[in-house]
Amino acid sequence: MTDLSGHAVASRARRNLRVRILRSGSAGNAILLEAARTRLLIDAGIPLDVIARELAPLDLTLSDLTAVLLTHEHDDHARSVGALARAAGIPVLANEHTLQQAANFLGAAATERFTTGTTFNVGAFTVEPFLIPHDAVEPVGFTLSVDGLQVVVAYDLGDVDGALRERLPAADVILLEANYDPRLLGVSGYPWFLKNRILSPTGHLSNESAAGAAVWAARGGKAQTIFLLHLSEVNNLPPLARDVVRWALEREGIRTARVQAVRSNAAGPLWEALLADASTP
Ligand SMILES: [Zn+2]
Ligand SMILES: [Zn+2]
Repeated sequence: MTDLSGHAVASRARRNLRVRILRSGSAGNAILLEAARTRLLIDAGIPLDVIARELAPLDLTLSDLTAVLLTHEHDDHARSVGALARAAGIPVLANEHTLQQAANFLGAAATERFTTGTTFNVGAFTVEPFLIPHDAVEPVGFTLSVDGLQVVVAYDLGDVDGALRERLPAADVILLEANYDPRLLGVSGYPWFLKNRILSPTGHLSNESAAGAAVWAARGGKAQTIFLLHLSEVNNLPPLARDVVRWALEREGIRTARVQAVRSNAAGPLWEALLADASTP
């Protein structure tokens, strides 16, 4: 890369909030948020070389990352957090219980504790971890704010509860689970114990529940982008998840929200917005 293009990339990155789902789904999850030279990875459930490969088109390397935030200790979110933290020289940020449960993935990685429900700052971002209903020790979603823009991340959750509803209408970008279609799950070859786990209020979110959350969020009146993620490869289809949510919005006469379903095991599109304070260093 020439100096000139390097400068161009640096100045663009300074002015924009960028969000990219590197991977989502039961095979592994990792989400990048960047603003004002702060680069956060939410979860690292995919191999390091895949993370590095997905960062390259964004002109980023592992060592450009600032921190990795961990939602919960399940393999598909936590598998590579320790290796990533050590390779990139960055800390893993999580609540105490999650750090304890994920100890086998952390090794000697640097860790920093946050308290669920308490807001903290990482570089340019203000982050609020909030409890979500899922069968992990202390699973969280995040709101991440920078210069008046807000991103809500909520995946691996069995129900849309009050805590999430409270946060959805203020979001500009929503990264929301749409795990399964109930009919496909019903006829799939999954064993009953697994179906029951997915269906439980601490399991995963159906397309219909995601649609309900999207309608609730969009009633707030903001022009929102809603990414559907953590889609099951067996019990869902991206066009189906997208249409269930779009139709629910249309039935309510809501045309401000854009909905995009992210295919399992593939990178999602890059979402970018100009920061309100373009002079942020
Ligand atoms: Zn998961
Ligand atoms: Zn999980």
